[in-house]
Order: sequence, then C-alpha cells, then structure tokens
Amino acid sequence: MSASEWEAVVGLEVHAHLKTRTKMFCRCALEYGAAENTHTCPVCLAHPGALPVPNRAAIEMTIRLGLALDCEIAARAVFARKNYFYPDLPKGYQISQYEAPLCGRGRFLLPTEDGEREIGIVRAHLEEDAAKTVHAGGATGRSVGAEYSLVDFNRGGTPLLEIVSAPDLRSADEAVSFLRLLRETIVELEVSDADMEKGTLRADVNVSVRRAGEEGFRPRWEIKNMNSPRFMGRAIDAAVRQQAEAHEAGEEVVQSTYDYEPDTDRLTVHRSKEEADDYRYFPEPDLVPVEPPAEMVEQQRRAVPAGLPAERIRQRAVELGFASAAELVKTGHDWNAQALVDAGLDWKAAAAIAMNRGGFLTENAGALVQIVKANVTREALDEAFEAAVEGPIAADDYLSRVAVSDEDALVPIIDRVIAAHPDQAETYRGGKEGVLGFFVGQVMRETQGKADPKVVSRLLAERLRPE
Ligand SMILES: [Zn+2]
Repeated sequence: MSASEWEAVVGLEVHAHLKTRTKMFCRCALEYGAAENTHTCPVCLAHPGALPVPNRAAIEMTIRLGLALDCEIAARAVFARKNYFYPDLPKGYQISQYEAPLCGRGRFLLPTEDGEREIGIVRAHLEEDAAKTVHAGGATGRSVGAEYSLVDFNRGGTPLLEIVSAPDLRSADEAVSFLRLLRETIVELEVSDADMEKGTLRADVNVSVRRAGEEGFRPRWEIKNMNSPRFMGRAIDAAVRQQAEAHEAGEEVVQSTYDYEPDTDRLTVHRSKEEADDYRYFPEPDLVPVEPPAEMVEQQRRAVPAGLPAERIRQRAVELGFASAAELVKTGHDWNAQALVDAGLDWKAAAAIAMNRGGFLTENAGALVQIVKANVTREALDEAFEAAVEGPIAADDYLSRVAVSDEDALVPIIDRVIAAHPDQAETYRGGKEGVLGFFVGQVMRETQGKADPKVVSRLLAERLRPE
C-alpha cells in the first residue's frame, strides 16, 4: 500500500559546457551573454563544404574528467553523427560519440552517512551543443503558444561533456548529493564552470521504481533539463510517488519523457515535437578517430588534483560530522574553512564562518582570524569580510574597533534606554523575556553598534530584573 515498499532506481545524464576558449570544431570564441549570432562561422553554421577540426583542449579536459571518475580512457574514440531535425541544428545532425566514447566504464564513490556507495559511470563522451531557440510572443516562453521563434547560433558547437551514470542511485537525496558532488568535482578539475543557473550544467534524470529486493528494472520516465539539484530532488520524489501509485493500481507505466510541474508537484507527459527515437548514428566521415597519445593521458592524470570533493568529505567528517562536512564541501566553502583552520581557528568555528560568510580570498584568512578573535564590533567584522572578498586586507585597519564591553560605559546608556521605554520594561518584568531583544537593539543603536551584544544582554537582564 505505502510507497515506502518501493525503492527508487535513478540514473543521471549530466551535461557540462567545457570552458575552452573556442568551440568544439571551429575557432569561434565562446562567450556567455554575447550579442546574438556574433560568434558564428561557416563550420558552426554548416555551410556546404566546411569541415570540422576537433578542439584539442576539449579532448584533454574530457580525459581529465574521465581519469577523475576512474574511467577507462579509450585508445581509439570515434565521433559519430546523431541525426535529427530541429531549427537549432543547422547541420541536421549533432556530432557526438556513440559506440566508441572517449571515456568508458568508471565509478564515483559517493560518501554517505554509512560509508561509501559506489555509483557506476557508464561513459563520459564529448559532443557539440545545439544552438539556442528563443520563443517569443507567448506567455510561457515555450514553443507552445509562441508567436514566433528566433535562433541564436552562438551556443551552437559549444563543446559539451556528457557523463552517464549507471542506475545505481536509490533515492532523491542520493541523486541530489551525487549531482552536487559531481558538479563540485567538475569545477575543481577546471573543465567547466558548471553553473546551473547559466545553463552550463544540465541534468537529465531517468527514474523508475521497483519493490525492495526485486531484480531487473521496470519502465522508466525521463525528466530532461533539470536546472537545480533541489528541483531535481523534488521531481524524483514526485515520479517515485506517481509510479508507485500506478503500479499499485495495476495501471501501465509507460516509458516516456515527462515534465515536472512544481506548482502541482506532479509530472505530466511531455508535449512537444515528435520524438525521433532512431537517430541513425553512424561514424562521422569528416573526422578521423581520436587516438589520445600516452603522454597526453599522463599529462592529464597529473592535472587531477589530489583530494577531490568526495575524499575531502570523508576527511572532514572526522572533525565536523558527516552532514556538516558534506554541506561545506558541496558548497565549495571548505577551502575557506581549511584556510581559517590553518590560521588558528578550530574546525567547528571555521566551518560556521565559511558557511555564513561565503567566499573571501584565502590569503586573508590570517588577518580575518586575528579580527574574529579580537572581539571587534559587528560592523567592523562585516566590513572586514566584505573587503576580504575583493583583495588583500590588513588586520590593523579593524583591530582598533573593539566592541565596547566596559560596564562603566554601558550601564548609564542601558539605564537611559530602560527609562525611556517603561511599557516594554513592564512587559519584560511580567515574564515576556523575548522583549530583551528589543532592548539590546536599542542599546546597539545608541552606541552605533559598538557595544558588545553579549555584555549588553547580561547587563540588561540584571538591571531589568524586579527587585
Ligand atoms: Zn564557428
């Protein structure tokens, strides 16, 4: 009866724009946000007779990612044509890799509360992105209901890395965790900015369900172009719920593409162009196979940094516990925490500051730790962290702005504030201790934020207490 008897079976296809200087098969520059159709040439517009030339940097980046995911690097990879018709695809086919991808079987060790889960990587291959269609004049920005559509060919031919996981993920949480860690890994390998908001990282999700202990797979739903991990998690949960309900009711679950509607928290069958399932792949006759030389592979192996995100979660969980360590690493803030620890803070304090204060330059960690330990005013602290994002800071500029904790200086101000608000004082004495926050705020205002809030709270409580 309950959906809890059903387990989720989830696999992801993650697409990342490689951050090469130029496109995959021509010398057009890649520039996010450039004026429409300003980065095009006969190759990426598919003029007759124009021939593609592979981008060496894109091949190197794909190999680097493959090595980080423990993939077998192909001795001979083949580009293939994937044929379909769409206005954003000038050639009428996309150059991709099919039977012989650059990176074959690999694995990703996903850290979890109970240790590691090995998530299989089926392949990682290199392809070119399509151009971008903009639907105008409609209410939804989709093709349905639009008055007309425009195509921006700047994106056409962008090198795209596609990473396909095995259907080894067993919950929405696991899938979200995998995506966030894979994203952070891609960023640290410096192969992509992997920014989901800008569309340089997108994920397609395959979801099916099966009863616990059941072998094999049931029909799956594909949800395309997820643009945030949180949103993806909700879509997976909804798909699992709907499929379990359908199986329980004896209804047929049809393998198809679905859209997730956040407002209703339900998935509906994707309404769009006819899906051509037969892409008639065949080897690209205009390109020779890629045979990466051994020294290229070795060079990329050396470019993989030691201690990738999953490994760092395991290390930092010892100090912080699993949940905090995972959060810190997935948000990319653990380098800042590490810098604060190196400068003399303990891990818990460093992690809290790194999470709350975001991305300061690590070269400022020493000065920041001095300032944090000096009990300066909240205002000075805010300014220091703000400046620490921009460039080098000097602790001396902030250390003089120590919070006033001198009781002789604070008591007269506190008494004046209490006297000015007799009603609130009465309320406090009547047992509503939450009013203390109001008085702290008033004292901080009187002192232009220079008072030490901890001392002010203590003095206020003492002086408001009924005789
Ligand atoms: Zn071009």
